[in-house]
Amino acid sequence: MSVSVDDVIRGKYPMLFVSKSWKTAQQDCASLRRTYAYLSQGTRPRKKATQIRDVKRYLRVATLNREGIVVVKQDQPFALSRETTVITRHLLRGILTALHLQLGHPSASQLQKVFGRYFYALDSEKELKEITSACADCAALKQLPRELPEFSTTHQITWRRTNKSRCSTGNAKPCCR
Ligand SMILES: [Zn+2]
Repeated sequence: MSVSVDDVIRGKYPMLFVSKSWKTAQQDCASLRRTYAYLSQGTRPRKKATQIRDVKRYLRVATLNREGIVVVKQDQPFALSRETTVITRHLLRGILTALHLQLGHPSASQLQKVFGRYFYALDSEKELKEITSACADCAALKQLPRELPEFSTTHQITWRRTNKSRCSTGNAKPCCR
């Protein structure tokens, strides 16, 4: 059974990667490990600390959930806010690529919707634009001509012409020559 982008956005399917141990993955990332430490201790980095740009960005939006996972709460109209799991930079590309393939090559904006329903990552939009523009299958689809060739039983490709002036049979209907 295939899963559509809409199904995932509407929450019909639990996320495809929930079984992963997010806490372990987050602890593998130096920036998220520091973010975790600040959040669990209730402290903040010194203003002058310059080497921790990512940590500061995480601290602006993130909290810890009950399992000790760094999450970002997304407010929803007329509903409880939703927790999205913070994904480390080094896992981001792999996850977005897997989602792009698993969901049948959605566009960058569709992929952002799916991703954002469950996850949060720094610079995810930039990354997923790169993934969709670098995808060979998506590029091949874009290059298809407007009028598709028809495959006849003799395996000859004939082009359906809509330009009547080029049709030598003089039929009113566009024909194949
Ligand atoms: Zn693609």
